This record gives sequence, C-alpha cells and structure tokens, in this order.
Amino acid sequence: MSARGSVLRVALVGHGIARSLTPAMHEAEGRAQGFAYRYDVIDTGDLGDLGGIIARAQAEGLVGLNITHPFKQAVLGHLDRLSETAARLGAVNTVVLRHGERVGHNTDHSGFRAGFTTGLGESARGCVLLLGAGGAGAAVGFGLLDGGVAELLIHDIDAARANALGDKLRRCCPDKRIATVPALTPEVAERLDGIVNATPMGMASHPGSAFPRDLLRRWHWVMDIVYFPLETALLARARAVGCHTVSGAAMAVHQAADAFRLFTGHSADPNRMAAVFQRLSATS
Ligand code: NAD
Repeated sequence: MSARGSVLRVALVGHGIARSLTPAMHEAEGRAQGFAYRYDVIDTGDLGDLGGIIARAQAEGLVGLNITHPFKQAVLGHLDRLSETAARLGAVNTVVLRHGERVGHNTDHSGFRAGFTTGLGESARGCVLLLGAGGAGAAVGFGLLDGGVAELLIHDIDAARANALGDKLRRCCPDKRIATVPALTPEVAERLDGIVNATPMGMASHPGSAFPRDLLRRWHWVMDIVYFPLETALLARARAVGCHTVSGAAMAVHQAADAFRLFTGHSADPNRMAAVFQRLSATS
C-alpha cells in the first residue's frame, strides 16, 4: 500500500502537543521497515481551523492525520465515513485520507484494548473500576467491556459525566452490568478485581492519585493511562501493596501501532515502538 521511494506523509493535529512522543514512534517504525515516512506536528493554538487543516492535508497528499485534544469530537463534522467503533464512541483520533475520502477511526479504543489484553494476561475481569469519564475514559470503558469485563463501575468527580458515560455504555452493551459510584468506599474496593485510571491525576500538572491508597488491595490489578510521567503515584503505591500494574505506555504504544497500520497498510511491531517510547520517555 505504501509507495516505497516516495515519502508517505501524516501529521498530528491538536493543541499543546509539542512534547508528544507519537511522531517519533511512527517515524522510527517507518525507518525500521525501510520506507520514507514523515510525521509532522500541527499545533493549532486555541482557535484551530480544523476544516482548513484537513482540506490542506488532503490537497498536499497526506495519507492520514491523528487528531487529539481538543478536536476528537469536533472532527466528526468533517468526515465522510466512520468505523463502527468511532461511530459507537462518537470520537475519532485517526483519520485516513485515501481516494478523496476522509474516514474516521478510534485507535484509543483498539490501543487500550490491546494494551489491556497483553498487559493483564489471564487476570480476573469480573468487576473493574474506571476512574474518569472524559474522552479517554469513554474509549477505555468500551475497551474494558469489549475485553471481557463483566461488571464496570464508573467514578468521576463530575457525577453528570459518569452518568452520561454509564448511559452510553449501557445502550451499546445491554448484557453487561454497568453502574456509577458516587464515592470510593471500602465496600466498593472489596468488590474490585481491577482499577483503571483515565483521569489526569498523576500527571506532573495534576499530582496525586484519584484512588485512595488505603483502599488498594493486594489482589487488585491497576492500570494507568497517564504516561507523563510513566511512574504515577497510583502505580507506585499499587506496586508497594503488591498489585500487578500496567503503565500508560501500553495504550500509547498500541494506539500508535494501530494508526501506523491504518495509515501505511503495514503492520507495526509494537515491541519496537515500545522500545522507542521507553527510550524517549526516559529523556523527555
Ligand atoms: P478529560 O478532561 O476529557 O477527562 C478527564 C475526566 O477525569 C473528567 O471527566 C474529570 O472530571 C475526571 N477527573 C478529574 N480528576 C478526577 C478525580 N480526582 N477523580 C475522579 N475523576 C476525576 O481528559 P481525557 O482526554 O479523558 O484524558 C485523561 C487522561 O488520559 C490525560 O491525562 C491524558 O494524558 C491521558 N490519555 C492517555 C492516552 C494514552 O495513550 N496513554 C490517550 C489519551 C489520554
């Protein structure tokens, strides 16, 4: 699918994305596979003209765009078609530009699910707590249910957001048990097999953890999707208690690998991309 010899071009569109490690992961993978592949960053500032940016990308022959904060919903109005998952989620982070058509996909969902499956192996999936019901939380919630979780509890400091995501997930997955929890209590903690953090808590700009340390139990597995830094307070505390943990690198790497395949038509090697990600995270 990729024209070896001519440069295959893609770009990331969003606000405040200068530190993103996604471009470097893609370009290194293109080099490793032996084709010329360029991944640019289009940082829009607050008032990005998304329609104009997509039209220019198409006119210049880019084969795709990754779309990030704050455009994952806004981009829907600029597309011709959506994948089934992107339509279900109402959010797009990957746009394939081919044959004059703009097709939206969601590799946050597929990437989380792949990271979840490989990171957790046979760990129990009976009852899982999702912390955070924002854009990423929605992709993670669908990923957890698609990945075999039987009962999903959702907690967000904004109760309306938790309820809205709960309603959306129940409509799509009527066979699953889905509930919102207004407070994190010992009774909730005792029922959990696993916990996934999809809030910004743990980032350098949001220090701390959305899950209280005294409610962590040795049998919980704990996954974080925050990756700046990779070692969040939640993961450090969970490891100290003896929990199995999976860092935010898992989702970041797999969403990039899935987008690479959609853009280029070539499967990416997630282990090679993970090595690039780990090396760059250690120095950024
Ligand atoms: P968002 O702002 O859309 O949603 C965050 C949600 O968390 C909000 O609903 C907010 O009310 C809730 N929240 C904040 N503090 C909370 C707390 N203490 N307890 C419970 N809920 C709380 O943000 P988003 O786009 O969903 O992103 C969330 C995080 O996920 C960011 O840190 C982002 O970097 C990370 N992320 C990682 C990947 C990856 O590939 N690993 C991909 C996307 C996003």
